[in-house]
This record gives sequence, structure tokens and C-alpha cells, in this order.
Amino acid sequence: MGEFAHQNQQGRHGQQGQPQHRGPVVVPCKWCHKPVAQTRRWFPKQYCGRWHKWKHRVTEIVGEVLGGGA
Ligand SMILES: [Zn+2]
Repeated sequence: MGEFAHQNQQGRHGQQGQPQHRGPVVVPCKWCHKPVAQTRRWFPKQYCGRWHKWKHRVTEIVGEVLGGGA
């Protein structure tokens, strides 16, 4: 019965601001803040590489477990 409530929690992060029409073409990597050139506006790259994407993902997951599990 609790599965529905669990799924609803996925939206608690909220959406970041939608990209403006005149928004920046370069977005800093979420891990190392290195400028990342955007080539596909419908799927913006948030990391300079997939390895940094994984690092950031793992850090987020670990942070949630440590911060919200206690
Ligand atoms: Zn990076």
C-alpha cells in the first residue's frame, strides 16, 4: 500500500528553472564547474563527462542516505 506514497516522493526535488529562450549556451559541470557546451537544448548536458555524472549521482545518493536515513 505504501508504494504509491513512495512514488510521489520522487517529485520532492522539484524542477530547476526551465531554460530561457535566451539562456546560456554553456552550462557549468555540476561536479567540477567546467563549462559544458550545450549542443542539444532539449536535453542539456549537465556534466562535462559521464564519469562526473556518475560521481555526482553517487554523491547525491550517499548524501540522501546519510542525511535522511537517520
Ligand atoms: Zn566535470
